[in-house]
Amino acid sequence: MKRLKNWARTTFCKSKDIIYPESEAEIIDLVKICNENRTPIKVVGKAHSYNDIFCSGEDGVIVSLKKFNAIEHIERQNQTVTMQAGIDIPTLIRKIKPHGLSLRNLGTNIFDNIAGACSTGYHGSGIVYGIFVSDLLSMEVITPTGEKKLITREDPEFAVYAVGLGMLGIIIRVTLQCEPYYKLEVTEKQMRLEEIEADFERLLETYKHFKFIWVPHTRNFMVWLANKTDKPENSLWQKIYTYGIIGVLVNNFLHETLLFFASFRRSLVPKINRFMSRMLLPKKGEIATSVYPSHWAFFLPHVLKQDVVEYAFKIEETFEVFREIIEMIETKKIYVDTPIEVRFVKKDDYWMSPTQGEDVCFIGTKIHFPFGRQPEYFRYFSHIDQILLKHGGRPHWGKQFRITTEDFKKNYPKWDDFWAFADQQDPNGIFKNRFSKRLRGEK
Ligand SMILES: Cc1cc2nc3c(=O)[nH]c(=O)nc-3n(C[C@H](O)[C@H](O)[C@H](O)COP(=O)(O)OP(=O)(O)OC[C@H]3O[C@@H](n4cnc5c(N)ncnc54)[C@H](O)[C@@H]3O)c2cc1C
Repeated sequence: MKRLKNWARTTFCKSKDIIYPESEAEIIDLVKICNENRTPIKVVGKAHSYNDIFCSGEDGVIVSLKKFNAIEHIERQNQTVTMQAGIDIPTLIRKIKPHGLSLRNLGTNIFDNIAGACSTGYHGSGIVYGIFVSDLLSMEVITPTGEKKLITREDPEFAVYAVGLGMLGIIIRVTLQCEPYYKLEVTEKQMRLEEIEADFERLLETYKHFKFIWVPHTRNFMVWLANKTDKPENSLWQKIYTYGIIGVLVNNFLHETLLFFASFRRSLVPKINRFMSRMLLPKKGEIATSVYPSHWAFFLPHVLKQDVVEYAFKIEETFEVFREIIEMIETKKIYVDTPIEVRFVKKDDYWMSPTQGEDVCFIGTKIHFPFGRQPEYFRYFSHIDQILLKHGGRPHWGKQFRITTEDFKKNYPKWDDFWAFADQQDPNGIFKNRFSKRLRGEK
């Protein structure tokens, strides 16, 4: 029996074995054997999902493609890269940089596996950018019965496979559209919520990347704005200060220590939030700017473990939903120890994408686990589920949610079609798991 836990330690999986194939032929053989024996099989990327989406179950096997991770082809002129699907994003960034290339857009976690990121609808922020998989030109998949299938983005099936939740086979190879290497100038400043709302359209239009946060129990909101620039990048010392001292030591270790005490007395949380705001946010009226290579600009160091709920919903409802969340936290007297993050993503037509059919706002809510201690937080997350469901919200597939099959059906027009396709591709149900059964309301 093998055990695997996710990054956040919110999920523990057991499986018969964890297998690390090194070639396409090995992957195909493995899938065929599992299909013949009806052995459940699941691929794990970097296990960064907060839920059990990558678990096979005790009678199944987990596959990691981390030894099948080569870059196979780089087209400098068209800025495209073809790679084996076990590659992780940091390796990809490192390998394409000498060719003068960067990834188009990233979230704050830049350590995912490329196929895991695609399969869960991983996203950054900026209304001109879709979710990460939108930058794929094609993918090759080993279907649950062991056939190899090439799906290009012109193919109607791309809409089904794009956000496949790991249910449609094993992605073994992808071709990704990149961009010429670029730097971002980031501007951070405090604004009142009313000011952000009044200036919303302009911020969305003027900045390629725009998000904002609120620190609960305070009146502190901060916008994060970024555009491409040719300005010189910050010095190495500034990078060490920003990411090492402020990012890791203050925002993670000092914060974790303070929250450890608050895990015994939750009423300390508002004081800690105010203190951390003073340490981390630009002062009111001040503007902080920095210039870094794009992946550094997107990145936020995460050391302190946490659990997360994140939903996408119509961008037009951003401020209505946000105010409901603020009101809920204040009236229910819930202590929330982490900023709430608000991001924006362009629509697509992928069947299982939270951004399917409409430009969206993503609201991410978190609770920290200082030194392994878990404050009671289900009440908070279940209120978030309820608010977001009222607004037709769709949860991020790699994060937590406790909603029913009927809720999904209401919010995903292609819900039944997706599962019918998955059943037809996987007649023996080997890629199904506890997660998919929960989604479908099965025992
Ligand atoms: C600290 C932190 C910060 C985060 N920040 C963001 C963020 O800014 N934006 C965001 O969108 N998400 C974010 N996430 C969520 C997380 O990054 C995503 O859920 C991510 O997509 C999971 O990637 P992974 O490689 O770890 O995949 P896993 O969690 O290992 O797997 C996810 C799914 O992909 C499937 N899969 C993996 N490889 C393959 C393959 N080769 N073929 C078929 N299916 C496959 C698995 O079976 C599973 O269903 C964050 C997570 C953490 C822990």
